[in-house]
Amino acid sequence: MLSLVSSQANFPLHSLLQKLTELLKMPQTLLSRLTFALKTISEEMGAEAAFLYLLTPDNYLEVFAAYDPTLHDRHTARFRVGEGVVGFIASTGKSIICDNISHHPNFFYCPGVAEQTNLSLLGAPLLSPRGVIGVLTLQNPASKPFEQWREKALTEISNFLAALPELAHFPVLTPLEGKVERTQLFQGIPLSSGIAVGTAFIHHPHTWKETAFSLNIKDESDRLKRAIREMVDAIDRLVESTPNLEKNMQDVLASYRMIASDRGWIRKMQNYIQKGLTAEAAVQKVRRHTREHYAQIGDQVLKGSLSDLEDLASRLLRHLSGKDSVSEDLPEATILVAHNLGPAELLDYDRRFIKGVVLEEGVHTAHVAIVARALDIPVVGRIPFLLTHVNKGDKLIVDGEEGTITISPSTDALQEAREKITKIKKNQALNKELSNKPCQTLDGIPVSLMLNAGLPIDLHHLEELRIEGVGLYRTEIPFMMRSSFPDVKIQTEIYRDVLDQAKDYPVTFRTLDIGGDKIVPYMWRVSDENPVLGWRGIRVSLDKTTILRGQARALIRASQGKNLRLLFPLVSDISEYREARRHVQQEWDRAQENQTPLPLSLTYGVMIEVPSLVEQLDVLLKEVDFVSVGTNDLFQFFYACDRTNPIVSNRYDILSSSFLRYLRKIRNMCEEANVPVSICGEAAGKPFQALALLALGYHSLSVSGPAAGSLKKMILSLPLKEAEAFMTSALETYSPSLKEDLLAFAKTHKVEV
Ligand code: PEP
Ligand code: MG
Repeated sequence: MLSLVSSQANFPLHSLLQKLTELLKMPQTLLSRLTFALKTISEEMGAEAAFLYLLTPDNYLEVFAAYDPTLHDRHTARFRVGEGVVGFIASTGKSIICDNISHHPNFFYCPGVAEQTNLSLLGAPLLSPRGVIGVLTLQNPASKPFEQWREKALTEISNFLAALPELAHFPVLTPLEGKVERTQLFQGIPLSSGIAVGTAFIHHPHTWKETAFSLNIKDESDRLKRAIREMVDAIDRLVESTPNLEKNMQDVLASYRMIASDRGWIRKMQNYIQKGLTAEAAVQKVRRHTREHYAQIGDQVLKGSLSDLEDLASRLLRHLSGKDSVSEDLPEATILVAHNLGPAELLDYDRRFIKGVVLEEGVHTAHVAIVARALDIPVVGRIPFLLTHVNKGDKLIVDGEEGTITISPSTDALQEAREKITKIKKNQALNKELSNKPCQTLDGIPVSLMLNAGLPIDLHHLEELRIEGVGLYRTEIPFMMRSSFPDVKIQTEIYRDVLDQAKDYPVTFRTLDIGGDKIVPYMWRVSDENPVLGWRGIRVSLDKTTILRGQARALIRASQGKNLRLLFPLVSDISEYREARRHVQQEWDRAQENQTPLPLSLTYGVMIEVPSLVEQLDVLLKEVDFVSVGTNDLFQFFYACDRTNPIVSNRYDILSSSFLRYLRKIRNMCEEANVPVSICGEAAGKPFQALALLALGYHSLSVSGPAAGSLKKMILSLPLKEAEAFMTSALETYSPSLKEDLLAFAKTHKVEV
């Protein structure tokens, strides 16, 4: 039965439904009546356009009626059930509210016809007792999103339309078809590697639904103090009970504990208590303010810190309610599904059962990701609307290698995931076996395999595979994990720790490469329209020379008695390199004057990531000791194609003959100048792509730890001379991708790619 209760007290849902009843009784055709109805719905619901899709006998959702004063061509829009956001609403039978439709994982872009970018959408299924017969959507520009309460109102309106007698003969998607247990694959980002298969368990942060006001201010204030004390003690116990915490993770938990005792946070809550709120209401109030504040900033890295604050608020509410731990009945192989998690929240769960984690939010530097990596738990993050897709008890595959999750996987997908898990285990065993073999191709050409690292925890791969050293140490990660800028003393400790853990392996430190997608929250004042083209890499270090000078000072101090290799990121012009080098040299001279013990040597390298630098390479090569090609950035600037944007990122291939020719040119220039060159972008980590790079003459590759084992296997099986001949002839003609040719080469020559 239709409920006529408005979702928001002052919204006249009742009178709107009456108006619609009158309109739909008019003598015009069904189409005209529905178009009038959509116009009225749009106006009353604050929308600029409305569409009514009905199901066709061949299982498509087609626009049946539309009110859209600006665009007419979308009236032909057609979606298969499950396709696009409209198809998603029909297949799940759930209403949806999206602030920007293009962020929805099911978004289906079809210029001029179907779902448009930069739109906010409110949609609800037309649910009749027979099942779903269509979908009603309202649209606005993304700058004018719908309020949450309108979702309920739209559900009532679409239920009303679904009950129209004229629609009774339209085809219907039965609830069974709509709720099919069919496999759904979602792409997110990998936050911790590994693969897990298990059962979904939804993590619910503690919520509180009791009295908001109290006259007894002193009692409430004491309760809050006591709860905070208990919480901090409990966090300490948690840290103590987590064995083998490496230094970095200790730092993470220490900074989390620091937030727990943060005076500003506690003062804000106490202020609300003074105004008459209960301790619980004060916690909630501050939590809501923090959320709003972070939502306005809208930055991904800051969201990492927000999850710590959210975690702490939930934890504090739990202590106020007298429960200090989560005691849950977990499935034996649990995949924790959450909007977001704090590091301690993850540690609250019994680690024997947690096989994987999936988050709606999450960033690479989030503390939970770092803790999960240390505990070897695969994590995938940034799956929008995750909690509307997954239910408790769903079977899930978490692929922390590819950054995907599969809900209700097919038997084949499960089989494939289990094979991948076995392969990872085998690879770990194989790595041990391979570690004793020299890294050379089948025809005896030595290849220098190095490691990309960003945390000391990555360094165990050095010994595991006897990798030659660290080809790229990304120094920015500790900066991004902290809540304030690490001073020279702290930085010296960090770099010393890295060098100690790397034992005698050489380490190439890249100076701070922040900006773009790597924001350091406490120092960011600028908001770039195009961050990837904006204030990042060496540009930041040269504008804020105290950063570069401080980092150089710390690196010089930490490298006493060792060789210091420095690499500058995102250099676009030779003058930037010269300026950066001059600053480092001044620090060196200063250390010498102060009689600070110096490193054994200091060598300078530059990342080749910007095409403009390639045109200055002949001059640059006379002034540097080594170069490293960062294919991640170089590729995106070469094709003017944002690699994180799925709409364009699949259009160009790193294995296109044009990009490979470009890489060949760089490599030949380095050889002529006798300057060592390596590749440290992701391209080097995929065996068949690395095959192409080796065939171009790059004999030094720097890759992530997990990629190194399979890469070495490929190298050992590669007849390099033949690969070079193949590449020379393949590059004579134009091809958008040589992938298939390379795979065919690998197959005939039994190369293990
Ligand atoms: C690159 O751009 O290829 C690179 C290695 O740098 P990062 O991925 O850290 O930007
Ligand atoms: Mg880069």
